[in-house]
Amino acid sequence: MSRLARASALACTVVCITAALVACGVGADGGLGVSMGPGKALRVGVKMDQPGLGMRAGDGTLHGFDIDVARYVAAELGVTEARLSFVEARPADREDLLERGEVDLVVATYSITPERSQRVDFAGPYFIAGQALLVRRQNSDITGPESLDHSDWRLCAVVGTTGAARIRADFAGRVSLRESASYQDCLRRLRLGEVDALTTDDVILAGYAAQQPDQFKVVGKPFSAERYGIGLRKGDPRRPKVNAALRRMINDGSWQASAGEHLGRSGYRIPPPPTVEG
Ligand code: GLU
Repeated sequence: MSRLARASALACTVVCITAALVACGVGADGGLGVSMGPGKALRVGVKMDQPGLGMRAGDGTLHGFDIDVARYVAAELGVTEARLSFVEARPADREDLLERGEVDLVVATYSITPERSQRVDFAGPYFIAGQALLVRRQNSDITGPESLDHSDWRLCAVVGTTGAARIRADFAGRVSLRESASYQDCLRRLRLGEVDALTTDDVILAGYAAQQPDQFKVVGKPFSAERYGIGLRKGDPRRPKVNAALRRMINDGSWQASAGEHLGRSGYRIPPPPTVEG
């Protein structure tokens, strides 16, 4: 790390600890830093542990379909690369990050739901996924949601996801739900045999299965419709502009190109882009 980068990383840490006066996090160029330069700044909450969607590479740079969506929308809002920064948005923190003003947007496989819509606004949808199951490669007992009738089976889901909520609501008493703080923890528990399956959106699971095909596989038909939206603070007047940006991304072919590059690789069948509402 150069002296300048080290200094700016330190400055960022100090600023983050003392007061959130300026945007902190991973700069759009991948480096840690404080957004610099003239013009509008934008802080975007993204995933950093989901291959194909929002993933941090070894050199700190971020890649994936959601990252491309965030960059496209930022550019359409007139934000330059230098003023765009990314902040990690864990599933359970997304509404809080927006409400506390720590991020301007959340682009993080964020399903639009009535409960979340009471606290935040959504632009979109810009992608539709569905809940599915990831099991160990050699497992032939769990073949889809219809197999979830065995109270001995332990299902891992991440705290704050729609997947965890759906298992609690629709499969209560039929399986044993084990909630984890992160996908990495669920994957570790699945590998070790501490749980029998991991459940969340099929597009996320496809990325993990592609990362370790000798260990894991996705099974069964999706059993929900997860409509991904871009989260904004309640009443944020930029919502129509964000919707217009999503529409443009779909219409000019950028959506398809990014989905093909980042999601197609895992063998995931890319659905057609949805109609952006609003
Ligand atoms: N789309 C689901 C949700 O919003 C799960 C994906 C995630 O972990 O972000 O809760």
